[in-house]
Amino acid sequence: MSRKIVIYLVVFLFLLNIFAWQEVFVLNSPHYLKVDFLNVGQGDSAFVQTPENYKILIDGGPNSSMLGKLSSLMPFWDKEIDLVILTHPESDHMQGFLDLLENYKADYILWSGVKKTALEYDKWINILEKQKKLGAKIIIAKAGQEIKAGNILIDVLFPLKSMEGQDMKDTSNDSCVVNKIIYGKESFLFTGDIDSKAEAGLVNSGENILSNVLKVSHHGSKYSTSDLFLENVKPKVAVISVGKDNSYGQPTPEVLQRLEKFGIKVFRTDVNGDVKFVSDGNNIKLIKK
Ligand SMILES: [Zn+2]
Repeated sequence: MSRKIVIYLVVFLFLLNIFAWQEVFVLNSPHYLKVDFLNVGQGDSAFVQTPENYKILIDGGPNSSMLGKLSSLMPFWDKEIDLVILTHPESDHMQGFLDLLENYKADYILWSGVKKTALEYDKWINILEKQKKLGAKIIIAKAGQEIKAGNILIDVLFPLKSMEGQDMKDTSNDSCVVNKIIYGKESFLFTGDIDSKAEAGLVNSGENILSNVLKVSHHGSKYSTSDLFLENVKPKVAVISVGKDNSYGQPTPEVLQRLEKFGIKVFRTDVNGDVKFVSDGNNIKLIKK
């Protein structure tokens, strides 16, 4: 290899490294954070494994498909989740948990504590009672809370005040739990289904919302993912969790255009399937199947 070629290669690899997205398999190293955005159809579900093997689920998706995926991500004998986060009690985020928590034990359950009139909601409350009896601790989310899982920090950023006991007709706006998972220099922001009003509230709250990876709110609804929000989160990558050919027209062209305008690389569960990232705290890598 000539000297010239070597130099070009080094420069190329260096540039790749700056962006830090490498489409290669990474060995199952114990010091990696793994974040799987699961393709569960029209809904949200993400599975997070910390370097110390704490297992965190953020939303359960609209059906039991998350359970099937979990069986390939966790050993079959392991029926314990360290932290379950329900962003809001709507069935496209909750239904999978109703199935999961019949058979799995959760150590901690973080949610907003809002009230709602719906059959699935009543099932959720029953599940919480059952899990409490098994020893689960229920945490009502409020900005400022920090949860440490080994070297991972989970920052609760929203709602800004406790929503416990509040009757919500629409639980997808002001009451969603927004949290950020931080590992070293890298971070993932999970927004549930917040709308642009809640996004503005988050921006003005002074909470540190800067994140490398953004889980796009509300499956790419045009009423979320505002310019203001993107300007402040400054993500390099966005993940849209959305079902194929859904009747809502999500993700909307408006949101896709906004993400493009900001130069954000987009992955979609309806197009890409499960989207998996690993991070060593300095870089984040996309794992391609
Ligand atoms: Zn949703």
